[in-house]
Amino acid sequence: RHSHRELPLAPRYKALGEPYHVPVSATPLPEPRMIHFNKSLALELGLDVSEADSPKLLEILAGNRPWPKYEPLASVYAGHQFGVWVPQLGDGRALMIAEVRTPAGARMELQLKGSGPTPYSRGLDGRAVLRSSIREYLCSEAMHALGVPTARCLSLVASPEPVYRETVETAAVVCRVSPSFVRFGHFEFYYHNGQWQHLAPLADHVIDEHFPHLKDRPDRYAAWLGEVVERTARLIAQWQTFGFCHGVMNTDNFSVLGLTLDYGPFGFMDAFRQYHVCNHSDFEGRYAFYAQPEIGQWNCSRLLRATLPLLSDSEEEALDIATGIFERYAPVYSQAVMRRWADKLGFYEVREGDADLVNRFLAILQRGKSDFTRSFRHLSKVRTDSDEPATGAREEIVDLEAYDAWIADYRTRLRAEGNTNDEARARRMNRVNPKYVLRNHLAQAAIEKAQAGDDSEVAKLMRLLARPFDEQPEMEAYAAPPPEELRHIEVSCSS
Ligand code: AMP
Ligand code: MG
Ligand code: MG
Repeated sequence: RHSHRELPLAPRYKALGEPYHVPVSATPLPEPRMIHFNKSLALELGLDVSEADSPKLLEILAGNRPWPKYEPLASVYAGHQFGVWVPQLGDGRALMIAEVRTPAGARMELQLKGSGPTPYSRGLDGRAVLRSSIREYLCSEAMHALGVPTARCLSLVASPEPVYRETVETAAVVCRVSPSFVRFGHFEFYYHNGQWQHLAPLADHVIDEHFPHLKDRPDRYAAWLGEVVERTARLIAQWQTFGFCHGVMNTDNFSVLGLTLDYGPFGFMDAFRQYHVCNHSDFEGRYAFYAQPEIGQWNCSRLLRATLPLLSDSEEEALDIATGIFERYAPVYSQAVMRRWADKLGFYEVREGDADLVNRFLAILQRGKSDFTRSFRHLSKVRTDSDEPATGAREEIVDLEAYDAWIADYRTRLRAEGNTNDEARARRMNRVNPKYVLRNHLAQAAIEKAQAGDDSEVAKLMRLLARPFDEQPEMEAYAAPPPEELRHIEVSCSS
């Protein structure tokens, strides 16, 4: 374990040089206060946990001094935002502040978000408000603990500095950690701006660092893109089966490692609704819950288009290869999502008719505005050794007649594969159906307390969400759906 000064650096992204990034200094943040330091992530990075109290590290994580021997940088990218091509975006309020080698040998990139303007800020202030920073901080850890691939956060630092959004708020800076922050939009930038010569070095960097098993293959670009497409499909299968809505599935927010990136107006659904739109600024519902798998696929089509020059010198052949890669998304998604629904129902195998069973269950939840997370969690109480209505499991349900008919079919399906060890099945199901998710009203309570200077609720949620599958009896209230008056918290892109 080391102090931050002794962590080995591995500046591979930096070594790409221009045109992939420019040096930018962070804007000093007045009166920084550490709201939370993620000790378990710090340990993975090889940091000594006493670093949590290091005044120098606080200054670094606030953007007030650079990481030793690393000059911070911002990168340029582009993207399709709500389906519309935007030729230049980039790290408008983010800075890479270090690339370190962890004790396990992984290379991790550290990025401040909210650390002031960069050449890619497009006239905006480069800051992030405390509210959205707390949401990103909590959700990335919650997703990590659920087993969903994601960027994570090392620290959350607040400041009294005012930030002007719909109202005056205050600034915060999170330090995000990921093996890579390269986005679909990085490739789109070079392709659509006619700088095709810059595609291959970036792809080679991603492959060498993150897909080393592919680097000696003659078809390495196609093989890599195939993995990106498959990882994206599997990632979204996870989102769907946790009732997670991302909210801003723009291509600039999509990772070429298939990680969840850029938590803004996301939401875990309380009441299940296929048409749920968590982002109040998404007027046409482009990123509604039910649409996420298809949008993931469309985003892959944008990445494949931007990487056509890597696939062949012949346009026709490149298109053929890209089409073949694109076509892998749908079957990989369907298979992954069905396997996950089957796990949530406790099935050993995926069998014919299971998709119908899942859809009937979801329809019952939707009609009754039943809580998604609780309804699945309760299913582990269903017993196969009796035909009694499943007490306990019914409490979320409105249409009990449909539910009891469904439960009868569910039991028949379990018995058909000899899945009658109810205790063992309940244990399996409770490892995939979380008890606790980051519900909006829970995040909101932590935000309001922190805005008033009390950071304890952030810490409490961090502890809770680190163990989402475990019963935590003293935290039972955190598994409850929101009270009526907190059901409709509006979350917009404003952050
Ligand atoms: P987002 O919708 O949060 O993914 O942001 C889209 C783009 O706008 C990214 O390139 C951000 O870096 C940039 N951006 C968003 N908010 C700000 C801000 N307050 N200052 C500078 N850039 C920003
Ligand atoms: Mg973004
Ligand atoms: Mg964002």
